Amino acid sequence: MNTVQSRASESALTDAELRLLEAQLRGRRLDIDRELGGLAQTLVEVREARGAESVDDEHDPEGPTLSSEWSRIHGVHGELAAASEAVEAALERIASDSYGVCTRCGQPIGFARLEARPEATLCIECARAAER
Ligand SMILES: [Zn+2]
Repeated sequence: MNTVQSRASESALTDAELRLLEAQLRGRRLDIDRELGGLAQTLVEVREARGAESVDDEHDPEGPTLSSEWSRIHGVHGELAAASEAVEAALERIASDSYGVCTRCGQPIGFARLEARPEATLCIECARAAER
């Protein structure tokens, strides 16, 4: 990794920075797990309420609310699952010493960007290019 670094603005992560980001990722994983756990519980409750709904009389005012709640929960669940995967992948990259390097151009992603988005796989320039 002693290639010439043309961009002086982004440098490879120091050990301290790496440890900080790893701690951040682990904290985030705990948060996501907790949210997913809470969501699973809510799903069970909504499912039970739905099951009860069908045997209830048809004047149940909760009906439409339940189905919109149902689809909302599914949406949130999908987002959380994706976030969980990204965090997991980032922790794996830390373990395999490939973290903090852009998967597209191979340049360091930079601490400032990783601090804001520790699961980022692209440097800011490649991320901008990918958006176009
Ligand atoms: Zn890049």
